[in-house]
Amino acid sequence: MRLARVAKFSFLLLVGVGMCATIFERNARAEDAIELWADRNDSDFNGIADGVQPELSLEAASSFVGLSKALRNGILRLEGATTCARLLVEGKPFPWGKIPGPQVRIQGVFACDAHLVSKNRGITSSTRLIVRELHVLGHDGKPILPVGDHLAVTRLPPQPLSEIVSSADNEDATFLVRGPKPLPTEISLDSITWFGQRVDVLKHVALTRVPCPAELGDSDLLACAATIPIRFSIDEVDRQHAMLKDRAIVAALGGAIVLRVDGMKQVMRVLGPRHTPIGPIGRLRATLRPFVLRVSRASTPAVGSSDAGAVAQVRAELAAAANIWAQCGISFGDTRTLNVAVVDPPAPHLLSVGDGSGTPATGGEIAMTVDQRAVRLALRRGMTPTEAAARLVIALSKVGVVGVTSPNARTAAGATGSVDVLIRRKNGQFPVFAGALSDGRISNDATLSVALGIVDLEDGLEHFSDVNAAAGTLEERTLLKALDDGDPTTIEVIVVPFFSGGGRIGESFIASDRSSLRNMVVTDRAGVRARRSSLTLAHELGHVLLDMPGHPDDYGSDTPTQLMDSDASDASPFGPRRLSVSECLRAYRQSGPKSAQPMLREWPLGPVPVDEKLPILVR
Ligand SMILES: [Zn+2]
Repeated sequence: MRLARVAKFSFLLLVGVGMCATIFERNARAEDAIELWADRNDSDFNGIADGVQPELSLEAASSFVGLSKALRNGILRLEGATTCARLLVEGKPFPWGKIPGPQVRIQGVFACDAHLVSKNRGITSSTRLIVRELHVLGHDGKPILPVGDHLAVTRLPPQPLSEIVSSADNEDATFLVRGPKPLPTEISLDSITWFGQRVDVLKHVALTRVPCPAELGDSDLLACAATIPIRFSIDEVDRQHAMLKDRAIVAALGGAIVLRVDGMKQVMRVLGPRHTPIGPIGRLRATLRPFVLRVSRASTPAVGSSDAGAVAQVRAELAAAANIWAQCGISFGDTRTLNVAVVDPPAPHLLSVGDGSGTPATGGEIAMTVDQRAVRLALRRGMTPTEAAARLVIALSKVGVVGVTSPNARTAAGATGSVDVLIRRKNGQFPVFAGALSDGRISNDATLSVALGIVDLEDGLEHFSDVNAAAGTLEERTLLKALDDGDPTTIEVIVVPFFSGGGRIGESFIASDRSSLRNMVVTDRAGVRARRSSLTLAHELGHVLLDMPGHPDDYGSDTPTQLMDSDASDASPFGPRRLSVSECLRAYRQSGPKSAQPMLREWPLGPVPVDEKLPILVR
């Protein structure tokens, strides 16, 4: 939880997903030379680089360069580097030699400085062919391939350029061009979401001469130029920090970074961590069920001044939390359209047996009316909460209503766990309850308590303490069990007006509490207001996804930049917003597609719509 935030509590897409699309645009800069970029990309999204693909779709083939009439009319060969380009006819490779007609295209495969030589009736004509390569390198200098690989957002706080550390959480990339001189002097980056919205741009990033990496091969004819390390930020807070000026761009999980250099466009996908002990993490999706509570029946919602305002505010909150969890490749689906329910506090529907102490009965009775029909149950000496609840279900069935038992975790002071009985009419509605003992109470046993849960948000939601953290309070259980869908693979996100007592702004109920309340988070309007500084919702979801009751700082390791720190509050990029690759791995193992009850499922990628005319909507 967060005290003012407090809580208790893969295949990873082994990524056939670095799918890229590249469009090579005609480059007619020099009339006496043909300039191409090595086609190392995947325009047709089939997982194979276009330059080595046996056959290309017409769309891909349409983006290559045609041959001049002089070159078409003779016997054509490539001199100097015979495999750095290939001929294509209607998308299929075609051998060098006699050219069949104007439909022939030439495609770059490797960097080279070569010549196309055509012989026609004893006359030789020669045209220089220049092929350049664009490489993306990780912080470790290893290549990030356009096909089958991806970029990822960083998981580290900002660092000065001179102090960037080598770490599995460093996802910076360097862009390098290799080819004959002169080399391009700058590259531009566009960032787009998976649905095609442009979120950021980084223009005119300088390419400066560097020695070519040895692994690319040695050639006197080829030179290299590279950018400084570029950082992919989770959000504007990170991106705008002065330390990152001109070297950061906001990147969206599942979206792409579009690289533009000298007329060439290449698309790199943005997914989860690139290096984990179980391989790369692609894109995962948690299913959230958000609710906003009204203070009382038909009154204003906990946040926003109207239902529409509440929905918009919660969606914005979930989008901010999703930006944080993008560090682990985890998303919450399309937060623009996520269904957010604005609901009244539930009417009484939960009868708790043994709430608090969990002690057995000493002898007494339950006497009440349900929809004006009498329900009586003798509580004989020694009867446990479990036995009493089971008998109550039977007694309820005799008056035509349905009771379902819902056991709770034992509280720190409890003899055993209490058992709630959730009561509905057969049509699913809540019935009307009244005590039927002479003093109006429901039961009179001295040791086995029987209590009807009441949700009254006018005085705040009574929150759990250290004693009853796993079970929750009676009021919390009455609220949350009314909203729970009973599916442990979905996560309920509940926004209440406020918690009683002050201090708390968020809490969570997780699987390892062994309670019937699980995978639910509660935040209040103060938690929503504290978004920028505490990231309450992202933090509480962290307890659920990591299935982790505690905080790293509970054990002496105070890391105020980590999302799961218990009490950090800071709206800067050094606030509690980072997740480490080990936490990503834990979320994957506890909640991922291969876990017992997967809350995170793979979210397959489609092509990113890259539309040149898209306006920049965020910046
Ligand atoms: Zn917490």
